[in-house]
Amino acid sequence: MQTQAQSREQIKQAVKDNAAGVRAIVQALYDKPEIGGEEYYAHEIMTAWLEENGFTVTRNLVMPTGYLAAYGEPNSGLVIAFPAEYDALPEVGHGCAHNLFGGISMLAAKAMQSIVDALGGQVLVIGTPAEENFGGKIKMVEGGVFDHVNAALMIHGSNKNGLGGASLALNPVRFEFHGKNAHGCKAYEGASALDAAVLAFTAINFQRQFLKENCYIHGVISQGGTAANVIPAYASLDYYFRAPKMATALAMTEDAAKRAEAAAAACSCTVEQSIYECPYGETLINEKLAELLAAEYAELGLTEVEPLVLVPHGSTDVGAVSFVCPTIQGYIKIAGEEVVGHSKEMAEATVSPAGHQALEDGAAALALVAAKLIHEPAVMMACQVEFEQKKARAAQA
Ligand SMILES: [Zn+2]
Repeated sequence: MQTQAQSREQIKQAVKDNAAGVRAIVQALYDKPEIGGEEYYAHEIMTAWLEENGFTVTRNLVMPTGYLAAYGEPNSGLVIAFPAEYDALPEVGHGCAHNLFGGISMLAAKAMQSIVDALGGQVLVIGTPAEENFGGKIKMVEGGVFDHVNAALMIHGSNKNGLGGASLALNPVRFEFHGKNAHGCKAYEGASALDAAVLAFTAINFQRQFLKENCYIHGVISQGGTAANVIPAYASLDYYFRAPKMATALAMTEDAAKRAEAAAAACSCTVEQSIYECPYGETLINEKLAELLAAEYAELGLTEVEPLVLVPHGSTDVGAVSFVCPTIQGYIKIAGEEVVGHSKEMAEATVSPAGHQALEDGAAALALVAAKLIHEPAVMMACQVEFEQKKARAAQA
């Protein structure tokens, strides 16, 4: 049977041999950035390359620009997924480096082919659209695409090397207030939805003092009337309730809803509550996977690698995947710290020499972690046990 040392050599060689082909795709995506949900060109060129390279491709999966590329037999061993992002941002193109993200996943999967041939199992590239705006991974998870995956491994371009970390659950809630129009000089004939919204906004501000650690409420008055001499019959508040656990974010939402109800009643209005964007679950971190990624980063000579960040920050659709299987999203440096995320400079870095190097290092790191999981069942088991423990704990607010 093939040894792990042999697998590692094969992976490093395959990364070198196939880097140029994937680099061209990263460049093509950079040249033609498409925003979330509209990544038709990306969908086309990524799936074409994967098909040419021996993967069985399912196009337009779950979402018009979602896809699955598979190599190997799922029942013959572990199923390892490399989720790929490829959505860009308005104005700054690939300022979040998702073109590189996608390329790293493709190259990692390609590098795993000879391992799968020798040892069985299946390697997947899961094309997950619209990370920035519609939470494509959430829809792919709901569509069952990750159901039989044993581990999901991915790396995001950044201005530093890192092992990733926890992220916050996010519940996006809209409160809509309904009152009654009236002339400003005969206000008593109406009911001001704006007054109800302002009162609710104030009451929800008072909630902040009572939030648990690392919980946030961000809100705006999204509509508050149109004319000063008309009592507004309609007003709305848009909120993000964020917390380390979704259960906590939902409890915060419930508290806010009570305040909104009371404010509406006080102003003779009514209030409706709805979810206006895709809720993002928190990310369950997997320390064992982080340890494996750290070891590969060190082996590849990457320095100043930030440890796993345990205090949750921001929100990402990777969270949804992390509830289905052991998951890691590491970071790889493609620019100096002066280059910030969501900038044109970050987009340029994806096609710079540092970006090219990160493509190869990132792909090698992911594939080497995958090979370890395949060669050492005890390591895979440790990741799985940690995943199950964290998932069970997440249910408690
Ligand atoms: Zn991103």
